[in-house]
Amino acid sequence: MSKFAEPMTRLIDELKKLPGIGSKSAQRLAFHILRVSGDDAEALAASIRDVKDKLRLCSVCNNITDVDPCVYCSSATRNQKLVCVVEEATNIAAVEKTRHFNGVYHVLHGSLSPLHGVGPEQLRIANLLRRVERGDIEEVILATNPTVEGEATATYLAQQLKRQGLRVTRIAMGVPVGSDIEYTDEVTMLKAMEGRREM
Ligand SMILES: [Zn+2]
Repeated sequence: MSKFAEPMTRLIDELKKLPGIGSKSAQRLAFHILRVSGDDAEALAASIRDVKDKLRLCSVCNNITDVDPCVYCSSATRNQKLVCVVEEATNIAAVEKTRHFNGVYHVLHGSLSPLHGVGPEQLRIANLLRRVERGDIEEVILATNPTVEGEATATYLAQQLKRQGLRVTRIAMGVPVGSDIEYTDEVTMLKAMEGRREM
């Protein structure tokens, strides 16, 4: 028999599924939720429901958004001819932190990893090539992570995009090798953007 009432056990079990949350943390969070007001608990539940119900991918850049096209793709003040390619939608925040990038994005939702069965077809590359084919892009900045997979993805994309005759650049390795650009500070990210190179 469980040491907690059934609804509590169920909440703890759900929380334990979250990344980085073990049994102890799950129990602490569950008891915290039990103590907060009904309004606060309902706000938490509603926000979880809303991200599943209201968020989808931008039909242009694959960013996670509640409006389609997303805020970047529909912005009149952003340079729509300059596209920064990132692996995950969360990486956009790392580039935005520099406050020096005024272009738009393309989210691949992963990186090439033949060992894990991730080939070009598993990534959102086709609609990037279509964007380029339409001829309204002047430069593509490859801001995939400085990992083996990220580098392989950048090299593959550079080959595909060079055929289209546009400028293809790669962010400089101001970002530590083997890390994730999601966790990069503003200065390092800015240096990396400034030091991007032709591929
Ligand atoms: Zn978009």
